[in-house]
Amino acid sequence: MRPTHLEIDTAIIRENLRRIKDSLPEWSTSTAVIKANGYGHGSVMVGRIAVEEGYESLAVAFPEEALPLRAAGITVPIYLLGITLPQSFDLVIEGNSRPAICESTDLEALEACAARHDVIVECAIAVDTGMHRIGIRPQDAMEFIEKVESYPHLRVDGFFSHMASADAADKTEAHAQTAAFRDMVTTIRKHRSDPFRFSLANSAGLLAVKDSLFTDARPGIIQYGIMPSLDVPNRLGLKPALSFYSKVVHVQHLGAGEKIGYGGTYTTDRPMTIATIPVGYADGFPRSLSNRGSVLIHGKRCPIVGRVCMDQLMVAMPDGVGVAPGDEVVLIGTQGQESITVLELATLTGTIPYEIFTGFSERVPRIYI
Ligand SMILES: *Cc1c(COP(=O)(O)O)cnc(C)c1O
Repeated sequence: MRPTHLEIDTAIIRENLRRIKDSLPEWSTSTAVIKANGYGHGSVMVGRIAVEEGYESLAVAFPEEALPLRAAGITVPIYLLGITLPQSFDLVIEGNSRPAICESTDLEALEACAARHDVIVECAIAVDTGMHRIGIRPQDAMEFIEKVESYPHLRVDGFFSHMASADAADKTEAHAQTAAFRDMVTTIRKHRSDPFRFSLANSAGLLAVKDSLFTDARPGIIQYGIMPSLDVPNRLGLKPALSFYSKVVHVQHLGAGEKIGYGGTYTTDRPMTIATIPVGYADGFPRSLSNRGSVLIHGKRCPIVGRVCMDQLMVAMPDGVGVAPGDEVVLIGTQGQESITVLELATLTGTIPYEIFTGFSERVPRIYI
């Protein structure tokens, strides 16, 4: 195996999941959001732990993502957060997942598919409370329930909506979306006594938006110990579970005036020791960290010099720090007194931890401890 891996601490994931669950009132169910391979951490692993910790359901984006979970023996409901086209309805049934539906969904085709397989499909009605991504308008909810119920093989499981700005310092939009969802819930309950699932709060909603929890919580990023933004306080004491390791494969002692890497974008200004690490942008380590990021070797920050290549990168050793092939490299995580966080990488590259996490390629082995 190559000397590069992501290490995921399952005890930390479990503790995070437990703390989130424990923070909820006992009348609330919880849906662990494990789309995009569990934000890069491994959906089967996170899904299994979530079920063990009492999460009533899981959520992914697309029907394909439910299949490995079912193959691993997970039996709880799996919600699909994205809209599914008819070409994938067979996969919905194969994975026994619960599709998000709204007026753009071809309900005729979904009914026909369900009838062909002789199953009832539980549907989660997506509601647009202000994000304008997917969903029916809240005022159309009653009419839409009736439409769904006119199909004998479709059943309404409940309603969900997504918050656009729950992680912002200014909660005006978050409160407006919460109010719109609440009004819809009130109307539905006036007419119907069904135990519909009503799900609004994402990670930021749970931690920072009062009253955004209805009957079900949908935490995503916080399960992995990362806050949705700097404006959301880590009030549950959640911890990051993922570290990224490699090893030095080559060491060079260069004089002053040598250019490093593609395009020669870095020139040594003095005699320097340069170490080569077998990690590149094809692993999901952003190329935009060229001449910006750093890694840890022997507990010291070593700046990336030159451009990050597809499969390799070079770093400059601080003066006086020795290095040899085989020495451990930390790209994300802690070594000695120093740490590099996923937030640091995201900030340096102008993105968010979500994108760094989901960018790790399949080429990087995941090791679970
Ligand atoms: C991704 C997603 C979530 C989880 O969001 P976090 O910010 O990671 O908590 C919840 N609901 C929907 C619809 C999503 O797409």
